[in-house]
Amino acid sequence: MTELYSPPPRFIWPDGAKCAFMLCFDVDGETTALSEDPTLASRLTTMSQCEYGPNVGVPRLLGLLDHLQLPATFFVPSYIAERHPRMMEAIVTRGHEVGAHGHMHEKLAHLSPQEERAVLEKSTGILERITGRRPVGFRAPWFEINPGTPGLLKEFSYLYNASMMGDDVPYTHSNGLIEIPGQWMLEDWEQFAFNAEPAWGSIPQNCSNVFDLWWREFEAMRDFGCCFVLTLHPWLSGRPSRVRLLEELLTKARERGYVWFARGQEIAEYVRGHPEARREVNFDLP
Ligand SMILES: [Zn+2]
Repeated sequence: MTELYSPPPRFIWPDGAKCAFMLCFDVDGETTALSEDPTLASRLTTMSQCEYGPNVGVPRLLGLLDHLQLPATFFVPSYIAERHPRMMEAIVTRGHEVGAHGHMHEKLAHLSPQEERAVLEKSTGILERITGRRPVGFRAPWFEINPGTPGLLKEFSYLYNASMMGDDVPYTHSNGLIEIPGQWMLEDWEQFAFNAEPAWGSIPQNCSNVFDLWWREFEAMRDFGCCFVLTLHPWLSGRPSRVRLLEELLTKARERGYVWFARGQEIAEYVRGHPEARREVNFDLP
């Protein structure tokens, strides 16, 4: 039998870990609808589906994280942070990280440089006031950033961005900003989102199929020494069967061993302190 292909690891992780696991929750809540069209505020059913995230999904997911004793990173639009103070307190008191995610979940590509700066300044200030800590991590709404975004993040003292998709291990921008890249496959919107009108998503996937999709990618990323970045939205992944799906994934990943479950800040600080940890892609490798 042919042995499995085993390239050298792309990254040397702490304490002998074979991969990092960054669990992210993008708590878009009401901004899911309002950033698309403010008049959706009068669509009470659509709005209530969005509110399910902060009101029901987050508490349930926090309970799961308590149960498993695992850390996560919550990217929260500052409009949502202001509207849900008890949720923010529950996230912060458990030691999870809060990162920036716009104010009203603005699409950065639609903003002028001045508008983008104003949104970052406002959202950074609101999160700092509410959590008592200045955020160091940023996830762009819809993951898309502008050419000026890395410079702006650096100027506002951000340590890392978690929006790009050019690799599957962290890298450093020319200005020193650290990038923790993600990918669309490890996102729940594509798998689970549905709304009749406005039309969001398509037919929600069976959890077993999604588990298989994510587990296969996790196992291979672990073999290849990568950074597994899973991005979930509480209005989708806070539904009961999907909480079970996440529980199964986290439990099995931990049982697999040599997995570093870490917040974005911990990963970025490790990357900054260990520039030699990253192994560049080498076309001469077997
Ligand atoms: Zn978002």
